[in-house]
Amino acid sequence: MTELRRTWCEVDVDALGQNLRALRALTSPPTLVAPVIKSNAYGHGLLLAAHAFVGAGADWFCVDSVHELEELRQAGFSLPILVLGHVPPAHAPALVEYQGRAVVYDAEVVDAISAAALLRGAVVPLHIKIETGTHRQGLTLDEALQLGDRIERSAGVKLEGLSTHFANVEDTTDHSFARRQLSVFEVALERFAANRQETLLSSICNSAGSLLWPHAHHGLIRPGIATYGLWPSKETYLSAMLVGRHELALRPALTWKTQIAQVKSVTAGAAVGYGCSFRATTETRLAILPVGYYDGYDRGLSNLAHVLVHGQRAPLRGRVCMNMTMVDVTHIPAAKMGDEVVLLGVQGEERVSAEQLAEWASTINYEITTRIHESIPRIARRSSLV
Ligand SMILES: *Cc1c(COP(=O)(O)O)cnc(C)c1O
Repeated sequence: MTELRRTWCEVDVDALGQNLRALRALTSPPTLVAPVIKSNAYGHGLLLAAHAFVGAGADWFCVDSVHELEELRQAGFSLPILVLGHVPPAHAPALVEYQGRAVVYDAEVVDAISAAALLRGAVVPLHIKIETGTHRQGLTLDEALQLGDRIERSAGVKLEGLSTHFANVEDTTDHSFARRQLSVFEVALERFAANRQETLLSSICNSAGSLLWPHAHHGLIRPGIATYGLWPSKETYLSAMLVGRHELALRPALTWKTQIAQVKSVTAGAAVGYGCSFRATTETRLAILPVGYYDGYDRGLSNLAHVLVHGQRAPLRGRVCMNMTMVDVTHIPAAKMGDEVVLLGVQGEERVSAEQLAEWASTINYEITTRIHESIPRIARRSSLV
């Protein structure tokens, strides 16, 4: 299968480990570090990333779905795994079977988990999601207290923690909205604490929160994008520099490669690709790449992006097709069939970053890496640490 590949990703497992340790260095015990490895580890390969993070001392994992939990357990990972996303009642038996923990905000789901756990004599730890202003999942304080009571009264489940999620921490350098969310969350924590002996595990920080706000780390941080060596945004990078995090170096871990399928010359005036959106103004050498939007190479990159060939930039000509893309190699005479091409990552002195691709495709770095098709092989690579 991998032998027949035409495109593949190389993932630097040392970089993943180093990023996790850099985040850990910002926390203080007993805060748990729980990298978010949903969405095929943001495109880096679920199991590959999971191995790298366990090697670097991850305490827990966060995933989006019971399906991801299942895959990790079947691969032998035994650390605590928190399911952040929706658990349909029908998935409750698998949640129990694979010893997951879940974020909950719905009585029907709690009842389904309780019933499934009772059948197996298990107790599933649950985390209530508090509404603090994101208006995605989450319950108001009164609703949360009610759900907390229901959990207390139900067999097979126990309340382990409370969590919430920032709406506006990475999109701005003005953190007043995030500060208000943090204070709403802290009020909820106090109300819950008033009725109980043991302390609840509390969690609010994604990557941006983890990087910028050590005082908000609480019991567990849930960094995603930063563990892959990518900054959540320019604004987060700027905010981090403003609070003096100059020493913090995140290392991008993913390189996406392919090989040239064909090189050909076209004459001045020739149109290239669907819609004839590019026309050569002079004799032009084109390299055809066996990658397209099916693979996750966004069609929005058409006529805008460049790839790297022989360490030089080769601009896209015409529209990205479903399985092919054309690039200009007129200035790279040595380019020939079989030569390695970098779509994302470093080649020689040049780099195409996820951020640059995101700008061209009018999206964010998160979407660039997560949409690299799951069927494309992810190959672990080691780099010497710098
Ligand atoms: C995806 C996700 C995260 C991680 O966010 P990053 O910005 O990638 O760090 C954290 N918490 C929740 C609830 C999420 O859904």
